[in-house]
Amino acid sequence: MIPTERIEDQYYKYRFHFVSFPEELYFLHGYINGMDIYINKNDSIEKQTETCLHEVVHAECDTGKNLMDHRSIKTGRAEFFANHIASRDVRRYLS
Ligand SMILES: [Zn+2]
Repeated sequence: MIPTERIEDQYYKYRFHFVSFPEELYFLHGYINGMDIYINKNDSIEKQTETCLHEVVHAECDTGKNLMDHRSIKTGRAEFFANHIASRDVRRYLS
């Protein structure tokens, strides 16, 4: 199983879509819309894996339901928090 498939497996309640983003959005790695998570399939597998985790953190935490410690994350800190968790957990899936 490739790393992104392991994440899809673990977070099966979300629908992951691996798509090409428009050329003018080359800098975008992923985004989330409800239960749908879109990942830039032109990124490296390492980046895609990290992006999957990043978007999952948004999905799980931005609404105020934090799996980690049950505290809500203020919107202003959501990006920092998502990056932090994704870069911490990505090794688990790439190993
Ligand atoms: Zn983000």
